[in-house]
Amino acid sequence: MIRIFNTISRKKEVIKPKKLKLFVCGPTVYDSSHLGHARTYIIFDIIVKYLRYAGFNVSYLINITDIDDKIIQRAKEQNKEPNKLALEFEKSFLKDMKSLGIDSPDKYARATSYIKEIISQIERLIKKGYAYELKDGIYYDISKFKDYGKLSGRTKQGAEDAVSRIDEAKDKRNKGDFALWKLSKKGEPKWDSPWGEGRPGWHIEDTAITEKEFGVQYDMHGGAIDLIFPHHEAEISQMEAISGKSPLVRYWIHSGLLRMEKQKMSKSLNNFITIEEFLKDHPARLLRYLVSKTSYRSPLQYSERRIEQAEKELERIDEFIGKLNDSQKGKENNNILKEFKLIFKRSMEDDFNTPLVLTSLLYLIKKSNSLIAKEKFSTKDSQEILLYIKKIDKIFGFIIKEKDLSIPENIKKLAQKREDLRNQKKYKEADLVRNKLIDMGWKLQDTNSGYKIQKI
Ligand SMILES: [Zn+2]
Repeated sequence: MIRIFNTISRKKEVIKPKKLKLFVCGPTVYDSSHLGHARTYIIFDIIVKYLRYAGFNVSYLINITDIDDKIIQRAKEQNKEPNKLALEFEKSFLKDMKSLGIDSPDKYARATSYIKEIISQIERLIKKGYAYELKDGIYYDISKFKDYGKLSGRTKQGAEDAVSRIDEAKDKRNKGDFALWKLSKKGEPKWDSPWGEGRPGWHIEDTAITEKEFGVQYDMHGGAIDLIFPHHEAEISQMEAISGKSPLVRYWIHSGLLRMEKQKMSKSLNNFITIEEFLKDHPARLLRYLVSKTSYRSPLQYSERRIEQAEKELERIDEFIGKLNDSQKGKENNNILKEFKLIFKRSMEDDFNTPLVLTSLLYLIKKSNSLIAKEKFSTKDSQEILLYIKKIDKIFGFIIKEKDLSIPENIKKLAQKREDLRNQKKYKEADLVRNKLIDMGWKLQDTNSGYKIQKI
């Protein structure tokens, strides 16, 4: 039985359905994705992979916000077409996901592919009296939806002072009313609609996508905690008003933010490290490890010290895996794996307690190492542990050092540069690159099948 913390009930609940439809809010593609995004999608990758491992059938959908004020603004600054800019950053986002080993989503859905569905939702909201027209577009009237605030715990009045992406318009009926459709100004991207040419507001794309892909009600919705209000509250107001059915979503899952020196890592605060930048100097598994070390609902404090600590722990894991590949001298069969299996299951079933899994993994290593030193560890123990670790690493993606995932991009590039120089018979230059790599902690080994990169 897996229990998960449900934001709407504010308690842990057993996940009952064996077939799960999960929607997670994707990025607004106007810039490179940063470590805050990485954290969110690594968390959901681990959660989905664990659920599948535990026998659940999960359909996992992520949206891509490829039309938004931020995209239009950035495109204007860079003198680009908004759709070209969006496509460029969508590509870079998908590349980042791949580099981080995030391969659990079944589908990425672009907002602009659902304009017809968005218009249909707005039409139904107007017809039912939940939406009204102003000079610059169509707005949702939050005072009409009696359950407004049930997810975030805010009242309609509480929405008055909200600033985050609530649209400004002078004549709005309530301050917290948000745009469903924005009429386009000159030179802005636009689509035809019954109310004139324009583009969708931010919140409506999610419900249009999920209604089409999942239906009017579905099992799970995830995202970072800062999306609870107004974004997820707005989704509930839209879909439940249209369908008359409640709840829109059975389990709401929210992940904590990544913090840099006590501030949230975000583009608006300009204190972010992009995923690409991080991966230049570090392997992807380090980030997956770092993310798993903190409970998914807590803030993750990012610091150099924590990275160094994680690096050390990963080295300890690598060293241990190396030993498991050797044959052992002892005869005993130990029960340490049994104990670890039990803790692994219990921890993951209790709201995905990955930090406890890591603690017990390090404990397993410590205990095994001492048994190996005492020659009380058998080859069978090694093989069984290795087999199990490989199995659960399909969820975590950091225990086994994968060749491609664990070598940073810049190291791979340098190694290839040396190879190219050698092919051009520029041996002196090639040796310089080789020495540079050694200074950086990597050595190259030439084999019959080409070169191999190894950490010194
Ligand atoms: Zn969303």
